[in-house]
Formats: sequence, C-alpha cells, structure tokens
Amino acid sequence: MFDLSGARVLRTRGRDAFALIVKACRRDVPPARLYTKMKPQNITVDIENKAMQITWDDAHVSIYDFTYLRRACPCAECQPWKEGAGAPGEMPAAVRNAVGELKAVSDVQPIGGYAIQFLWASGHMYGIYTWDYLRAICPCGEHAGKT
Ligand SMILES: [Zn+2]
Ligand SMILES: [Zn+2]
Repeated sequence: MFDLSGARVLRTRGRDAFALIVKACRRDVPPARLYTKMKPQNITVDIENKAMQITWDDAHVSIYDFTYLRRACPCAECQPWKEGAGAPGEMPAAVRNAVGELKAVSDVQPIGGYAIQFLWASGHMYGIYTWDYLRAICPCGEHAGKT
C-alpha cells in the first residue's frame, strides 16, 4: 500500500498536469526526448482509491489517478492527431470528460515487459501505455507531465 496523501494531492493538481501533457504534444517533442529507458521496479494498483503507483528503477515514485490515465490514453481514437486528424493535442470531448474506472487489479494487463494496458470499465482498452509514456506523463511536482 502507498501513501494516499500523495493521491489526494494529485487529484487537486490533475487538471493542470493534464494541460501540460497536451502542451507537450503540441510542442512536437522529438521521440528521442521522450525516450527515458526507465523501467518500473514496482506497480501498485489501488482500485478503491482509483490510483496507480509506479516506483521507477531510479527510485522516483509516480502516482496516477485513474481518470488522469484514462484521459491520457495514447490510442489513435483518443489522440486522433496521431493519424493526422485534427489539431495536435485536441482531444475529442468524450476523452476530455472520460472518467477512469477499473473493476479489478487484473484490469491492468502487462504487455511484453515494455507496457501496460488498461481494461477500462467503459469497455475502452486500446491504449498501450509504454513505460516511457508513463514516465513522460508523471504528474508529480517535479515532472508535471513534462519530459
Ligand atoms: Zn484510447
Ligand atoms: Zn515525477
């Protein structure tokens, strides 16, 4: 279990941190800068408090609110500009307003040792969250969604 006071802080900061992710997308950051090569040492999923904690191999700790993660879904449906549709960073309203809900810890599925996938209660499950992406969107005060 982890310190839930951190998760509470995240919830109040969530909106600002998310705006920063969108800005990062608009800046067209070269992929090399987003590539961190960090790996999680430990992932804790807290269904009750709707938060996931990653302890990285450099000992940094990231705490993500489920809704924050759902809205940051990197799939082409949620980030249509990846396929050339719409302006970069312009998410469909359904994504901006989506709520992240998971029914069980098993709704977080590891993918090939480099990513995880969320089986959201809404049925959405297309986003592949690589370690690099998760590290890049770390909402802590130090990173705040910046690379
Ligand atoms: Zn998606
Ligand atoms: Zn961080």
